[in-house]
Order: sequence, then structure tokens, then C-alpha cells
Amino acid sequence: MDSYRHKGLRKALVSSLRPKGIYNEAVLDAMMKVPRHLFLDKAFEEWAYKDQAFPIREGQTISQPFTVAFQTQLLEPEKSEKVLEIGTGSGYQACILYHLFKKVYTIERLKTLFDSTQKLLKDIGYERIRSLYGDGYKGAPRFAPFDKILVTAGASSIPKTLLEQLKIGGYLVVPVGQGDDKEMLRIKKTGEESYEKESFGIFRFVPFKKGTVD
Ligand code: SAH
Repeated sequence: MDSYRHKGLRKALVSSLRPKGIYNEAVLDAMMKVPRHLFLDKAFEEWAYKDQAFPIREGQTISQPFTVAFQTQLLEPEKSEKVLEIGTGSGYQACILYHLFKKVYTIERLKTLFDSTQKLLKDIGYERIRSLYGDGYKGAPRFAPFDKILVTAGASSIPKTLLEQLKIGGYLVVPVGQGDDKEMLRIKKTGEESYEKESFGIFRFVPFKKGTVD
């Protein structure tokens, strides 16, 4: 499943992330641990270790490795923390988070993608990731509050419900913008009603959409 050759390719990919600004060693270690080729169809395996986004099932994409590493680094993960990801997609980002957090929750709005990814996560040994089918706009109130929340789809505005589900001191990392270009924001919850916002450049994402699809 994960060969010596795959490990070599992964090592090269991970090394290429450092000069692009990924300095968090724990994040780089996690990128080294997760076999990205298992998230692509076998026919496209050779694309797995290029620093590129790639189409997956149901017209969605697996995010570019740099973007995954960058968003994860912005979260400043701590082993004691609980994280919520919005937009499970292939499940790759959730697996990276799994190596860095105590508990990972992830939500997907497309039922067929949710089902196939949940099966994949079990098959490759990541069954402890808690995957939820639902509308990420609503977050996961049953499991809130979270230390960190990560949105891996492009939003048109800051999702307020997600801010409510953060602990004080927690971060929401979310790409936000009206057009295709989204500004990577990190919002820190500093009090019940107070926040600090930082911006980290422009990225492209598949859209954050309302509602679920059966
Ligand atoms: N984190 C993923 C990236 C997938 S692309 C990975 O590592 O592969 C973004 C995903 O967000 C898509 O699967 C899309 O269906 C999902 N998505 C978009 N809007 C959503 C919403 N409101 N709730 C949950 N998932 C959503």
C-alpha cells in the first residue's frame, strides 16, 4: 500500500514545502506520515506527490499539499486540542490533523462523498476520525466548543456560527472573499464577543455551499 518509492516521493514533496514557508516541524512530520496517493484513484497515483490540487470524486478536489500544510500551520496545533474541519472531501486534510490533535471532527455536505471517504478512512486505519454528514455552516454544535476550526472550502463571508463554536483563545482558519480569489483569514476569539483578524494571502478553493446533498 505504501511503498519505499512512495515514501521517497513524499519526502521530496515535504522538503519542497520548507522553502515555500512551512516551518512547523510537527506539520511537516504529519505530511510525511500520510500516504497521499491513497486518496487518489489508482490511475492518477503518480500525481499524488506533486504540489498540486487534484480532482477527486463528485466533482470536488483534494487540496494542494502546500495549502493543506499552510492552513494546518496557521492552526498552531497542540496535541491536547480538539479540532473541527469543514469540507472532508478526500479525507486527506483530516488525516493530517489526526496526527496533530487529540480529537478530529470533520463534516461533508455531499452524502456519496461522505460515504466513500468514511469507508476509505476506515480501510487505511483512520477510523478514529469522527466524520459527520451535514452542512458545515451549522458546525457541529453537539461536539462544540472547539479549540480550532478549519474551513477547507471558499466562503463568501465569515461564518458566524463557527465563531460561536470556538473556545475563547481558539482560532478559525477560513478562506473568505466575494470572487474566486479568497483571502486566507485567521480569526482568534479573544472574548465572548471579541475577535482579532489576521490575513495570510490569496488562495483558490472549491465553494463553501449551503445545505446538504443526499
Ligand atoms: N479538505 C479536503 C478538501 C476538499 S474540497 C481534502 O483534504 O480533500 C472542499 C470540500 O468541502 C468539498 O468536498 C465540498 O463538498 C465540501 N463542502 C462545501 N461546502 C460545505 C458545507 N457547507 N459543509 C460541509 N462540506 C462542504
